Amino acid sequence: MSTIAAISTASGIGGIGIIRMSGKDCFEILSKFFIPKNKKMEPRGYNIQYGHIINPETKQKIDEVLVSYFIEPKSYTKENLCEIHSHGGNIIMKQILELCLENGASLAEPGEFTKRAFLNGRIDLAQAEAVIDILNAKTELEAQTAEKQLDGQLSHNIEEIRSLGISLMSNIEASIDYPEYDIEEVSKQELTDILLQIEERLEKLIKSFDNGKLVKDGIKTAIVGTPNAGKSSLLNAFLKEDRAIVTEYAGTTRDTIEEYITVNGIALKIIDTAGIRETENEIEKIGIEKSKKLIDEADLVIAIFDGSKELTCEDELILKLISSKVAIIVLNKEDIGRPSDEMLRMLQIGKPIVSISALKEIGIDSIYNEIINLFDFSRIKQDSPIMITNIRHKHLIEQARKSAQSALKTIHDKMPIDIISIQIKDMLEYLGKITGNNVSEDIIQDIFSKFCLGK
Ligand code: GDP
Repeated sequence: MSTIAAISTASGIGGIGIIRMSGKDCFEILSKFFIPKNKKMEPRGYNIQYGHIINPETKQKIDEVLVSYFIEPKSYTKENLCEIHSHGGNIIMKQILELCLENGASLAEPGEFTKRAFLNGRIDLAQAEAVIDILNAKTELEAQTAEKQLDGQLSHNIEEIRSLGISLMSNIEASIDYPEYDIEEVSKQELTDILLQIEERLEKLIKSFDNGKLVKDGIKTAIVGTPNAGKSSLLNAFLKEDRAIVTEYAGTTRDTIEEYITVNGIALKIIDTAGIRETENEIEKIGIEKSKKLIDEADLVIAIFDGSKELTCEDELILKLISSKVAIIVLNKEDIGRPSDEMLRMLQIGKPIVSISALKEIGIDSIYNEIINLFDFSRIKQDSPIMITNIRHKHLIEQARKSAQSALKTIHDKMPIDIISIQIKDMLEYLGKITGNNVSEDIIQDIFSKFCLGK
């Protein structure tokens, strides 16, 4: 494989920046423009050399650097790898990268270092996916969960389930291939028992996605209310807290902004913050139709009402729309008026009610407390052995479970043993795809394209 290079640290000005190179020729390429202080020292793995980056043509010093060496296979990619620690300015890093490219390296694609780690067998696909999750983690819990996956805990669990299936397969195949040896046909009961055990373990993994999704994507939260109730002010109050995380995705068609707040270690993803902000513009208020859609999509609805006024028909409609959702009723503007008894009576729909002033930022914590009450955070955070957070994994596990169920049905219907064997083979294939067996190039491409450059 060719030698690749990229800037691995985030762009911008920093104390240090790292340019990484991986591939057979990386030390040779490096030697064209790096002059170590100790010129006699050969590259040794897990070693750092001090020296200067020099423009080989002009002999001009570009920067004073440290270079760390990793000799194959003991590196991130399992190839020869070096990391040039330069000063963290954009210009210097770009100049050093240019030197790598001019002297034989090619520019790494996003995620290519990790892709090589996968292709060279240092990590499996689920572990590679965990690397992206660690980089993108918004909360400590999300990072911890991804770390466990990188550590191989999910892969190990999947391998255990696969090995149950593999032992079944070998028994079945022996009885199909060598009937003359009179190998006792795997007893139907034994097959059924093991398949049930597999199914139960897969089921558990699928269920873990409910929490895994919340940990990874955050609790999808809709802030709804009639115009002027205070949605935009509430959003601002949330985001003013330092727990807010704003991520921006620069897209080709339009840039999107995702805003999160973290409550007790779990992220709440506020849906359609752009829409909420539009309400500052008098012309574009969020209409009931749009609220309906938001409510449908949400895991949690924060319905905000102007507590200083009586409820309007539209408010009553919103109350109806949220009746079957996990929701918090927020009475806003407590600084200028208290709700009437009649209003309080109408708001009693079995949801928690919190009184706040979004403008004065009073009572925001009581919303957080209600969120903690509504979602069983301790269960989500519980040190559960394995939690699925990736939709690709969930789909594959679901397909594997379906195959296990079909195999059970085949046994039950007293169909020939070869059919069961095909179904178990399918199941093994689906599970194998999680860790990267038999996955198509498209899927690998798709997974690594989500990485940033230099990882
Ligand atoms: P939205 O249309 O639901 O997004 O409502 P806004 O957040 O834009 O608020 C509408 C108006 O109510 C603005 O003039 C806000 O300053 C005001 N407002 C919002 N929250 C409060 C509050 O807690 N107290 C008072 N007195 N005014 C508020």
